[in-house]
Amino acid sequence: MHHLPHQNKKALIIGSGIGGLSMAIILSKLGFGVTVIEKSRQPGGMLRSYIRRGIHCNVGLHYLGALDKGQLLRRLFDYLGITEKLPLTRMGVHGPVDRYYFTNAIDGPRQFDMPVGLDAYEAGLKETFPKEQSAIDGFMALLRQSAGQLDRLELLFRNQTPADLIDLTEPLWEILDRLGCSPGLKGVLSVPSVWIGIPPPLCPQFYHTMALASYLFSAWRLESNGAHLVNVLVQRLTDLGGRVLCGQAVQRIDVRGGDVTGLTLENGEQYDAQLVVGTAHPKVVVDLLGSNTIKPSYGRRITGLVNTDGMFAVNAVVPASIHKSLPYNVFSMKTDTGGVAHNVIYTQLRASGRPESLLLTLITRGHNELWRPWEKTCSGHRGDDYGAAKMALARGLIKKVEPFIGQLKGLEVIDTYTPLTIRDWVNSPDGSAYGVMRSDRQMLSASLLNRTAVKGLYLAGQSVMAPGILGTILGSLITTKFIVGSKRFEKEVQL
Ligand SMILES: Cc1cc2nc3c(=O)[nH]c(=O)nc-3n(C[C@H](O)[C@H](O)[C@H](O)COP(=O)(O)OP(=O)(O)OC[C@H]3O[C@@H](n4cnc5c(N)ncnc54)[C@H](O)[C@@H]3O)c2cc1C
Repeated sequence: MHHLPHQNKKALIIGSGIGGLSMAIILSKLGFGVTVIEKSRQPGGMLRSYIRRGIHCNVGLHYLGALDKGQLLRRLFDYLGITEKLPLTRMGVHGPVDRYYFTNAIDGPRQFDMPVGLDAYEAGLKETFPKEQSAIDGFMALLRQSAGQLDRLELLFRNQTPADLIDLTEPLWEILDRLGCSPGLKGVLSVPSVWIGIPPPLCPQFYHTMALASYLFSAWRLESNGAHLVNVLVQRLTDLGGRVLCGQAVQRIDVRGGDVTGLTLENGEQYDAQLVVGTAHPKVVVDLLGSNTIKPSYGRRITGLVNTDGMFAVNAVVPASIHKSLPYNVFSMKTDTGGVAHNVIYTQLRASGRPESLLLTLITRGHNELWRPWEKTCSGHRGDDYGAAKMALARGLIKKVEPFIGQLKGLEVIDTYTPLTIRDWVNSPDGSAYGVMRSDRQMLSASLLNRTAVKGLYLAGQSVMAPGILGTILGSLITTKFIVGSKRFEKEVQL
């Protein structure tokens, strides 16, 4: 049995993504002696970029919202103590943050530019849909109200829990129908839901607001890369006395008499603690518990949760001498007759860190059906056919985005990844990109995932509250509130 450095209260955290590292820093600030256990050789989970041909390719970090002084994510980054270390560039200064292209505009525009600012967004909607002024007024009133609640962090500081957000759980689609929005307008409003993995008709208004409003507050790119952000977080944790152990997966969560007692790793090492926070997918954490440690009903609830789909991504380089980087993101998509966006392709063309090349990133739905033949294989051992199938899909996607960003001369694909890659990398069930789906259908079953049926065992990570860097850190704060109690939380956590 390893005994951790003497601290009054020890905490063990499973997983070192943004969920695990934010959880670790928060608990360290509150006086816990924290050890993070990560199965991969390097920390960071989906936040970590990987290197191909000397170029950092980001996975789960393309742009961030609400980082202006005093804004929501900035307050969270300030609390974590990392803002000063991050080279950030503001987006949307001389143009849009996002440019949407509709390939089959049904009674709507071919293009819509998403600017910074709620007022500018409203003006853009009204200019694009001049006949729908009152529907837009109704939608904006709701957006402003819930964006304000989010910004004031009412879910953390007004004794609200996600279950109390029931008023905000009405599907956005029902609201848009009530307001009489056209399919064209719905198409524009559906994009933020897709970006967090929720089919637009199932997206509760609250989650739509979180995905949309945070980027309307302000939008930013990290000039460095995901690995840099991970290093900053790990350094901060180390400065606070915590540590990250990499390269050993947790094999078992040890429980005695209904209380958590520690963790056993794959190599047999044991670590003891009365507080354990699992930040891997909830199903993965529950699978680490012995079968008689939890009630079957709790196990069934967790394993029955529907997850978001996986994603397919392409990273490629193009010569910087003949292409210009795009200061905005491009979303190209089809909409159906009801206005639901399908086959969305996210495109980013930006500096690569190497003067001669720009980095092109495309992200789209996982195309799970294509990878079934390799389901039982693991990363690095899938063979040439898999590589060829990925390349064929990549080439098709590149052709699809060229009409919008121009012909990509001299392009070389440097990497592609599928849901199987994500599955093997971070243990996400079926390669789910955003974990548990925050759809209106499972608002109740997916609420309050922070607590578990075992005393001393909590959950954090993107599945407990909302995905994205913002949603995941908020999830860590809610879990902290359960761990230390509302009174102490509100006294000691100043955001
Ligand atoms: C393609 C893509 C693009 C995205 N773009 C953005 C964006 O631009 N902006 C934004 O805000 N968000 C974005 N996101 C979402 C964001 O990246 C995620 O919500 C966030 O990174 C999830 O963090 P996490 O800590 O919950 O999970 P993870 O990063 O998956 O961390 C879980 C960790 O647990 C570890 N683990 C699992 N099992 C074990 C075990 N048994 N023992 C030890 N360790 C274990 C895993 O290895 C992993 O490191 C994107 C996501 C994807 C997939």
